[in-house]
Amino acid sequence: MMPSVRLVPLGGLGEFGLNALVLEHGEDRLLIDAGVLFPSADMLGVDSIVPDFEYLASAPGTLHGILLTHGHEDHIGALAFALQAAPAPVYGSALTLGFARRRLRERGVSADLRTLTPGDPVEIGPFRVHPIRVAHSVLDSLALAIETPAGVVVSSGDFKIDPTAAPEARTDLESLARWGERGVLALLSDSTNAESPGFTGGEDDVVPAFEDVFARTRGRVLVSCFATSIPRMQRVADLAMRAGRRVGFVGRRMVDNAEVALELGLLRIPDRSRVPTWEMAAAPPGSLAVLVSGSQGEPLSALSAVARDEQRDVSVGPGDTVVISARVIPGNERAVSRTISNLFRRGCDVVHPATARVHVSGHGGQQDMLELLKAVRPAYLVPIHGEYRMLVQHARVAAASGLLPADRVLVCEDGDVLVLDAAGARKEGRVEAGRTLLDSGAGELEEVVVRDRRHLSSAGIVVPVIVLDKQTGRVESAPEIVTRGVFDAEDRAELLDEASRLLAESVASRPDEERADPALTRERVRGELRRFFRRRTQRRPMVIPVVMEV
Ligand SMILES: [Zn+2]
Ligand SMILES: [Zn+2]
Repeated sequence: MMPSVRLVPLGGLGEFGLNALVLEHGEDRLLIDAGVLFPSADMLGVDSIVPDFEYLASAPGTLHGILLTHGHEDHIGALAFALQAAPAPVYGSALTLGFARRRLRERGVSADLRTLTPGDPVEIGPFRVHPIRVAHSVLDSLALAIETPAGVVVSSGDFKIDPTAAPEARTDLESLARWGERGVLALLSDSTNAESPGFTGGEDDVVPAFEDVFARTRGRVLVSCFATSIPRMQRVADLAMRAGRRVGFVGRRMVDNAEVALELGLLRIPDRSRVPTWEMAAAPPGSLAVLVSGSQGEPLSALSAVARDEQRDVSVGPGDTVVISARVIPGNERAVSRTISNLFRRGCDVVHPATARVHVSGHGGQQDMLELLKAVRPAYLVPIHGEYRMLVQHARVAAASGLLPADRVLVCEDGDVLVLDAAGARKEGRVEAGRTLLDSGAGELEEVVVRDRRHLSSAGIVVPVIVLDKQTGRVESAPEIVTRGVFDAEDRAELLDEASRLLAESVASRPDEERADPALTRERVRGELRRFFRRRTQRRPMVIPVVMEV
């Protein structure tokens, strides 16, 4: 039998985030990334979403390793859950493992963490994994060339080409091209910016806008970016120090990640140029530059607290400038907008990507994607990381480039099983690729719970209470109806009287066979009220009847 390799995406192909892809040869497998998906605003009370790792737990065979391409939450945030499903050694670069170690500690999960270094291949089961440096918005990001018995699979991780990046952070196109010369079976490539023509700019593109901010701000400068954006933090710190300011960090994630990066020497700020949190309130405003977490307007974040003037260590007012140096993740637009308005209300200036070039993406645009394709020259291209529209756009750009035939570009979705061997590539069935919703306590939430919350939030709740005589089954007193969030005070009394009469009649006239079973009476009451509310208010509140026998 000719050797084959199977790719099983458990997440990340069809959404932005949730990245987790299984690569397997027979019953030997690797997991590439284990990331979270951030919930949209209508997922009430959902804190994060992780892939369903049931496949790892139940498929026969061995998970030999979990490979982390870089330290973003959408690639490492679900690691604890992957490990619970199938314990295995975890591989990643020093910074990635530094971040991951903290996340695991928070969840009380231990793991065997093994550092990957570009240029040093590692044997993992029947696979040989070669880490390759790529440029991205977090340092120490890797692409992976994985030798399998069926051929070489290259996974790009998140990347951009960025020839202006520092040599130690630049995408190593030479190594990638060497794999291209040896022959690559499949390239899995980041599709996040497949809709942006051209190349994505370099990190240094943000420098002029920040120079401008430091030149004209007399008071405090606050900068909010992703807590993983170490290169951005370094640039801000360098400009701040040049302007004679000391640099501080506010917000749990920001403080945490800065500590990890400082320890590893990946963020370089001398001690004398750092300001501890407890000194910030008393420090002269013009001497401060503060990196603050909360660029997505998260209500519990440090930046939101600053905007409401409820942050203990730092406040803002006239003369200060707040820079939001991150893109808005879809779904967070309103929260970010509210934060910006609140900051303006404090009298400070606010600079954000819509008004100045204070952010540049970490993901390559169409030209970056083609550049990688040209270097790797795979037999097959599989677009990964992105909503379906981005995967398709990536496929179109690749096919139109003529770098490989259109039928060699394979658009897959979560759960699709893709089999590759010397004879070709084909989809072979599907596996379960669900999601697990978590609330803020990291407890699991069933999908139905969130659906109920959405229903309650959009239409309210009605609780009719019916008291029946146990012996006769007759209605004891006029049914009481409690409602919340259903209608205005004026209509209320009249409508409820009417509904109560209707229920009393309906229950009184129910056939004998229903009398024996209170569950049937409950169903009758529910149906009557649903029809009543739909007819009279055009609304569909949740109806929860309580039928008591006394
Ligand atoms: Zn990333
Ligand atoms: Zn990503």
